[in-house]
Amino acid sequence: FGALERDDPEIADVLLDELARQRDTLTLIASESFTSPAVLAALGSTLANKYAEGYPGHRYYGGCAQADRAEELAVERARELFGADHANVQPHSGASANLAAYAALAEPGDPVLAMGLPHGGHLTHGSRANFSGKWFHPIAYRVAPDTELIDYDEVRDLALAHRPKLIICGATSYPRLIDFARFREIADEVGAYLLVDAAHFIGLVAGRAVPSPVPYADVVTCTTHKALRGPRGGMILCREELAQRVDKAVFPFAQGGPMMHAVAAKAVALREAGTPAFQEYAHQTVRNAQALASWLTAEGMRPVTGGTDTHLALLDLREVGVSGREAEARCAAAGIALNKNVIPYDPEKPAVASGIRVGAPSVTSQGMREDEMRRIAELIGLAVRCDPQTAAGTSRLAGIGEEVTGLVRRFPFYQEQEV
Ligand code: PLP
Repeated sequence: FGALERDDPEIADVLLDELARQRDTLTLIASESFTSPAVLAALGSTLANKYAEGYPGHRYYGGCAQADRAEELAVERARELFGADHANVQPHSGASANLAAYAALAEPGDPVLAMGLPHGGHLTHGSRANFSGKWFHPIAYRVAPDTELIDYDEVRDLALAHRPKLIICGATSYPRLIDFARFREIADEVGAYLLVDAAHFIGLVAGRAVPSPVPYADVVTCTTHKALRGPRGGMILCREELAQRVDKAVFPFAQGGPMMHAVAAKAVALREAGTPAFQEYAHQTVRNAQALASWLTAEGMRPVTGGTDTHLALLDLREVGVSGREAEARCAAAGIALNKNVIPYDPEKPAVASGIRVGAPSVTSQGMREDEMRRIAELIGLAVRCDPQTAAGTSRLAGIGEEVTGLVRRFPFYQEQEV
C-alpha cells in the first residue's frame, strides 16, 4: 500500500475512504460479506500479470507453471469441499458462469423454465434485458400467493406444458430452502437439465448450514464473493459427463484468459471455507438472519414467507406505510446499508418496491450475534419511521447514525495496510 500512496495518492485516498466506509457502515446487503486479508493478498498479487488461456496442462501461453498450480489447487479444493465431480473456477462472475451453463446445456431459442424476476429470480434467469431472455425462450414460475413459497405444482405444470430444455432454481431474494429433489423429479419427468444457481447460498452450503444442491443438479453455478467470502467471481460445479462441455463453454465460448489472481484468491477462500471456523460462521449467519427477521417483525415489518432458513430476509413494509425506496434512503442516512426489494405480487414498481432485503453475512463476519441483531432491528425500525423532509426527522436519523457508528466500531476488521 506504501507504493500506491507514493505513486497514486488519489487512488490511495479512494481506498482509504472505502475502508472507512466499510468500517463505519452497518452492512446488511445480502449479497456482500468481507473477505479475509489472505484473499485480498492473493487478489493484489503478481498473478494479475499472467495470461493463461486454456486449462492446467493445456495453455495457449508459456510460463503458466504457477498459474497451473493455483488453478489446480482451486479446482481440487472446490471438488472436495462440495463433493463435485468437476469444478471450473474461471468464470469472471456469476452472470458469466450462467452464460457458460446455458451454452453447455441449451441452444439459442430453447425454452428455459426459471423463477421470474419479480418473484426472486436473477436477471440471468430469463429477463428480456439479458442474454437469457433475448437468446432463449424464457418461461417464468412464481411463488404461491398465499404461502409465498415456490409453487412446485405450477413448476411441474409449466414444465409439462413447455418441455423446457433447462430448468433453473436458485434466486436472489428467496429466503427459504429450495426442494432440489422435487426439482430433480420434475426435470427428469420432462427430460430437462437441472441448473441450480447457488450464487446466494453457496457459502452456506460450504459451511454445511443448508443442504447441498450438488447431488441433485446437472450443473451448479455460483458466485464466489457473497457468503463464501472469496474474490468477486464465479464458479461452476458439474457431473463428470458434462465437464468438457462446461469447460468449453467457459473458454473459449464465453471468456478469454482467466483472471489468475482471482483464481488464486478463490483457492484461498475455498480452503478457508473448509475449516470449522467457517462452518460456525455459516451457521451463525443463518441464526443472525433468523433473529433479524423475528426482531424486525416486532418492529411492524412482515417477513415474506414468515421468516427465513438462510442468510437473508425479505420484509414487507406496507403496514409501516413506507416504501422500500424510502426505507433504503432513510436507513442509508443512518449508516445502515440495505436494499429495497420487490415482494411477491408487489403492487409497486421495482424502483419503488414495497419491501427491503436484509442479509447477515457481513455483520456475522464482523463477529456480531443475536443480541446485536435485536438492536439492529430496533435501529432499522426507528430509521424507517424518520421523515428526512422534516428537521426533527433529519436530526433523529443523525442520532441513529451515531449509535450505528458506535455499534460497528465495536466490531473492527482489516488493518490499514490490508486495504
Ligand atoms: N445469480 C444469482 C442468483 C445472483 O443473485 C447473482 C448476483 O447477485 C448472479 C447470478 C450474478 O452474479 P454477478 O453479479 O457476479 O454476475
